[in-house]
Amino acid sequence: MLPEVAAVLGAATELLVAHIERTYGVLVRRASRVESVIRRGEHFDLRVRAPDGSRYEVRTASVVMNIGGTQTPHLLRDALREMKLVAPQEDERMLTSDRVLSEPVAALRAHFSQLMRDSQSLVVVGGSHSAFSVLERLAVELEAVGLKEIVLLHRSPIKLFFETREAAQQAGYVFDEESDVCPVSGRINRSGGLRYRAFEIGGGVLTEGVVPGTRVKVRTLPVGGGDAVAIADAQGCLNACAGVIQCIGYQPSLPELLRDDKEPVALREIQGGLDSDAAGCPCDTDGRRIEGLHLFGLGSGLAVDPKIGSEASFHGRIYGIWQFHHDASRPALERVLTKAAWHEQLAHSQTLHRYRLGRGRR
Ligand SMILES: Cc1cc2nc3c(=O)[nH]c(=O)nc-3n(C[C@H](O)[C@H](O)[C@H](O)COP(=O)(O)OP(=O)(O)OC[C@H]3O[C@@H](n4cnc5c(N)ncnc54)[C@H](O)[C@@H]3O)c2cc1C
Repeated sequence: MLPEVAAVLGAATELLVAHIERTYGVLVRRASRVESVIRRGEHFDLRVRAPDGSRYEVRTASVVMNIGGTQTPHLLRDALREMKLVAPQEDERMLTSDRVLSEPVAALRAHFSQLMRDSQSLVVVGGSHSAFSVLERLAVELEAVGLKEIVLLHRSPIKLFFETREAAQQAGYVFDEESDVCPVSGRINRSGGLRYRAFEIGGGVLTEGVVPGTRVKVRTLPVGGGDAVAIADAQGCLNACAGVIQCIGYQPSLPELLRDDKEPVALREIQGGLDSDAAGCPCDTDGRRIEGLHLFGLGSGLAVDPKIGSEASFHGRIYGIWQFHHDASRPALERVLTKAAWHEQLAHSQTLHRYRLGRGRR
C-alpha cells in the first residue's frame, strides 16, 4: 500500500543521506529553501533560507537544481489557445491532474457531483501518462455519480511502448520503422509510449473506446493538426462539459533567477519543458545558454541524448526517473566536474600569482 511505500522510502532516504555524508564528506543542508540564484560571471550565488528562518549565501561554480514542477491554469489556457481553442471562463471548471489523482474519493465525488449537475461529460487535455491515469481515476470513482463520457483532446498521436519489434507485432500494434523505433535499444516508442498501467488503459481506450473495467466511454479527439472540423468539435465539447482536466505537463517551479545587475532572467520554454540541452543547461529568452546551471527535474526535462537514444517522432522532454538514475545525468555530471577542475586550476594559478607578486615585493 502506498502509505507503507512512503514509510519505506523515507527510511531508505535516511540511510542513503547518511551514507553519502559519511562516505563522500558531502555537506547536506536539509529543510533549506533556495530563494534566489544570482548569476555573477562564472559563478552563482545562492540565497538560502535555513529551517530556523535565518538566511545565508552559498557561492558555487555550478548549480544542479531539480526542484519539481507546478500546474497552473494559465498553462492550460495558453496550450488551448495555441490549438485555437478557448478554455472555460470559470476557474472552478478547470482542474489539474495532480488534484484529480490525489484528492480523497469522498472529496472528489462531492466536487464532481456539484460540477456534473447539468452535464455528465468531462474533457481531459493531454495524451501521455498523466492523462491515462486521470481517465482511469475519473471513470472508476465517478461512474457511480453519473459520469458517462470523457473526451480526450490530444495534440500528438497516442502511442504505446513495446520492448521489442516482435512484441509490438505480436500485439498487432502498427508502428513506423523510421520514426517509432529507438536506434540504440530497438524499443518501440521508448520515450513517448504509454507504459505499465497507462499502457493497459490506453490499449482499452484505443480498441474498445471505454476505460477498462467501467462503462465510461472515451472519445479521443486529435486537435494538434489544426483541422477546422476537429477544432469546432473540440470547442463544442469544452463548452458543454462539466469540467476540463489539465494533463499537459508541468512548469518548473524555480526560485528567483537574477543577473548580476538584479534583473530577472527568464528561461525559454519549448514543448514539454525548458529549452535545455542534454546536460540540462537552459537558455534565456534571448537564446543564450546558461552554462553551469543544470535543471532537469519535473517541468524542466532533459533534451534527448542521441547516445542514450529515443524514437525520432518524440519531440518532448525526458522526465523518467530511470533516465536520471542511468546515463541521462552523465552529461550534467561531466560538465560540473570539468568546471570544478577549471575553477580549481584558476584558484591555484591566482594563488601562485599572488605568491610571486609577494616575493617580487620582498
Ligand atoms: C503523477 C506522476 C506520476 C509519475 N510517475 C512516474 C513513474 O512512474 N516513473 C518515472 O520514472 N517518473 C514518474 N514521474 C516523474 C517523476 O516523478 C519526476 O520526473 C521526478 O519526481 C522529478 O524530480 P524532481 O526532483 O524534479 O522533483 P520532485 O520529485 O517534485 O522533488 C522536488 C524537491 O525539491 C524541493 N524543493 C522545491 N523548491 C525548492 C527550493 N526553492 N529550495 C529547495 N528545495 C526545493 C521539494 O521540496 C522536493 O523535495 C511521475 C510524475 C508524476 C507527477
